[in-house]
Amino acid sequence: MDSNRGTRTALIVGAGVAGLTAGIALARRGWRVDIAEVGPSGATSGWGLCLTGPSLRALDELGLADACLVEGYGMSVITHVDGQGEPAGQVRLERLIGAERPALVGIARPVLHRILHAEAERCGVVVHHSLSVEAVAQEGDMVHVVLSDGAVRQVTLLVGADGIRSSTRSLLGLGLETTPEPEYHGQMVWRALVPRPLWATGIHQFAGTVHTAGLVPISGSQAYVFLTENDGERGALAESELSPRLRQLLEDFPGRVEEIRPLVSVSDSVVRRPVQTSFLEGAWNRGNCVVIGDAAHAPAPQMASGAALAIEDGLVLAQELGDRQSVEAGLAAFADRRTRRCRTLVDTSVAIVGLEQAGRHREAWPLVDACHRLMAESV
Ligand SMILES: Cc1cc2nc3c(=O)[nH]c(=O)nc-3n(C[C@H](O)[C@H](O)[C@H](O)COP(=O)(O)OP(=O)(O)OC[C@H]3O[C@@H](n4cnc5c(N)ncnc54)[C@H](O)[C@@H]3O)c2cc1C
Repeated sequence: MDSNRGTRTALIVGAGVAGLTAGIALARRGWRVDIAEVGPSGATSGWGLCLTGPSLRALDELGLADACLVEGYGMSVITHVDGQGEPAGQVRLERLIGAERPALVGIARPVLHRILHAEAERCGVVVHHSLSVEAVAQEGDMVHVVLSDGAVRQVTLLVGADGIRSSTRSLLGLGLETTPEPEYHGQMVWRALVPRPLWATGIHQFAGTVHTAGLVPISGSQAYVFLTENDGERGALAESELSPRLRQLLEDFPGRVEEIRPLVSVSDSVVRRPVQTSFLEGAWNRGNCVVIGDAAHAPAPQMASGAALAIEDGLVLAQELGDRQSVEAGLAAFADRRTRRCRTLVDTSVAIVGLEQAGRHREAWPLVDACHRLMAESV
């Protein structure tokens, strides 16, 4: 990680979706990129992700959509099921990467991370595990960074891609006055990996009397069940309580969910997380340092679009920095291009949370569809 004034150098904090895709996009444009990831190697949590059309389109620009489609499960239809267990309509999603390829893909997170890591490595990006950033200062056109192993580095660009609780954002003093802590919306979201039922060839979304649930295939053999629990106690549950509690919550749903419920007993991964959002008001950069992904804008998971925004960020960041002499000007242009889209998504996801909590599920569906249409527009 030595500095080299002849080459443009970037240090990215966080090897999540945003950090890895930004690393790949920058490296392809000639930047020398290191990533400091606080977690140990191979520590990605095991639940599944739904990568919507815009994610696939952005991955396709990186040449990685087909790898995700091969390892994940491609789909084009969302089936809504009402509180009586009856089909209440189907949404055919726009195929953004061509009529011959699916509209979206379900994929296990560790699989997506393996694909991104392999590509980052191929592009020469070096990922340093169990490493973080402790102090940052800009002098002239270089950023001086003190790392958690005591080393001091000089880079042209520092990117904070360290998630919703970004410590880079705090180190840079971004949004201190304007942006509150991530907002908890009184919902808990569940994910459980289960064997894929044969009928599940697309996404199913079930409206219950109190909660919402669904099923997303992530490979030929696996799917994940999701459930959004209204007024869930925020405190952590013991590992042994997770599966029985999720099965109990699924009792609220008639129809096909009755088939899914027993599958939760054989799940080797049940997770429960608070539904939180945040949006960084004001500047996203300070000098040559910027935050991207959830560190700048974290929607509620209902829209399944946080990863899409994170991947797009990586692409747009590299584009806007392009051959510009001034990194700072590139970062300002990046934020200009991203703010409206990201804010709309975060705000819509919050509105959906409110409707779900009021039991007005049907009113939430058009919002979801409108937001998918907005996201389908080019970046
Ligand atoms: C339950 C749940 C389900 C979701 N489902 C979907 C979905 O289906 N589809 C979708 O598109 N989105 C989904 N999302 C949102 C999506 O996961 C996020 O928007 C996306 O992961 C953001 O990527 P990121 O790289 O910005 O942040 P993260 O994925 O949070 O990655 C941040 C990385 O930074 C590292 N890090 C943190 N602090 C430091 C530090 N100080 N130093 C170094 N490294 C650090 C972390 O270890 C991590 O590797 C879901 C979110 C949740 C909570």
